[in-house]
Amino acid sequence: MSPQYDRADAIERDSADALASFRDRFIQPEDALYMDGNSLGLASDASIETLDRVVEEWKALAIRGWTDSDPDWFHYGEYLGELVAPLVGANASEVVVGNSTTVNIHTLIGTFLDLALAEQPENTPPPAVLVNDLDFPTDHYAIAAQLTQRGIDPDEKLRVVESSDGRTIEMDAIIDALETHADISIVFMPSVLYRSGQLFDLEAITTAAHEADAYVGFDCAHSVGVVPHELSTVGVDFAVWCSYKYLNAGPGALAGLYVNKNHFGAEPTLAGWWGHEKATQFEMNQTFTPAETAGAWQIGTVSMLSAAPLEGALAVIDEAGIEQIRSKSVALTDYLITLVDGRLGEVFSVGTPREPSSRGGHVSIEHPNAKQLSAALREAGVVVDYRPPNVVRLCPSPLYTRFVDVWDAVELIRSLADEEVTTVNVDSQVT
Ligand SMILES: *Cc1c(COP(=O)(O)O)cnc(C)c1O
Repeated sequence: MSPQYDRADAIERDSADALASFRDRFIQPEDALYMDGNSLGLASDASIETLDRVVEEWKALAIRGWTDSDPDWFHYGEYLGELVAPLVGANASEVVVGNSTTVNIHTLIGTFLDLALAEQPENTPPPAVLVNDLDFPTDHYAIAAQLTQRGIDPDEKLRVVESSDGRTIEMDAIIDALETHADISIVFMPSVLYRSGQLFDLEAITTAAHEADAYVGFDCAHSVGVVPHELSTVGVDFAVWCSYKYLNAGPGALAGLYVNKNHFGAEPTLAGWWGHEKATQFEMNQTFTPAETAGAWQIGTVSMLSAAPLEGALAVIDEAGIEQIRSKSVALTDYLITLVDGRLGEVFSVGTPREPSSRGGHVSIEHPNAKQLSAALREAGVVVDYRPPNVVRLCPSPLYTRFVDVWDAVELIRSLADEEVTTVNVDSQVT
């Protein structure tokens, strides 16, 4: 017997949800059904509390805040790194919170390019970096710039794995590239593709890269906080992520990075005093001695007000448990996919892999007039985002989205589908 899908069933699912009560910890935006937590996670009472605490420390302690606040500001990047480490499966010393994701790509790609260059026998061709054509653009901009700065032509050495369907990247295509091009020294891939939501097999990619004598790094912006990782166990060399998506730490919150302990002591490309060995940082030596931890990849003074909300946000995630968060996320995206298939017309299709193990936390719905559809949804109070050319992303972020929200969002799409805004108009598709 096929299950009954109606609003009452959605409410039933919510009452059986072990994480249901977490929704009350978050502040819902006005008049909105929020399906955009993969772009900007919501504020929680906990994140506002830790932010307020730091503001109070600033008022009361001023400069003494660096040493006398609790936890002290001086080690705050490392302190937060320790709290994030279990979410990515790393040792505390391998993770630090600092900089922005794009800056972290610059410094880590630069660092590993320099390691690759130093290890090369003489008269070998310059190293290449392997990426894919569905990447978030900032990754390519930063990597190309790092290659250029070393006199390496990115048109040749930024090697791009092509997608065969415009949605996903096949493992075989990555292996093919590694077998075809002996110059690949770094494989840099996303954990989850920002548009289709495909979740990559980090372990398989790491094994393939290492077999080809390449370093491997991941951009985990779309997975940290919703998909558990085992970066250290798997042997990933480095990784970066943002804190404002599933980690709910606020707009432009400080990012995170991971460096495998085997690479401690490597020279950070973007050296700065905040990456100095902590014990001697204030001796103010003119020679840079990098910290013997991932902390070495920090650059300048930790931005306390962009870091503090993360502390509270992480406490909520810790309380819920990352495994439970992932289970609920999979249940929500499964439910969403079922409703798209069953309740929306054929002009809508699911662009996200259907296999849960190949899916991150959001679902992309493809529609020829996706841009107009997203605008109409926002107008009607459902916050989604549009990604060109034909994708509407819906993210039921598991800590604060109910099954009934998913139901309501799909029903709204269904009602809009009858209106002019989503009828297929060949002329407007081109724009
Ligand atoms: C969101 C996102 C970024 C953002 O980088 P910022 O430096 O924080 O602007 C980078 N990479 C990916 C894959 C993203 O999804």
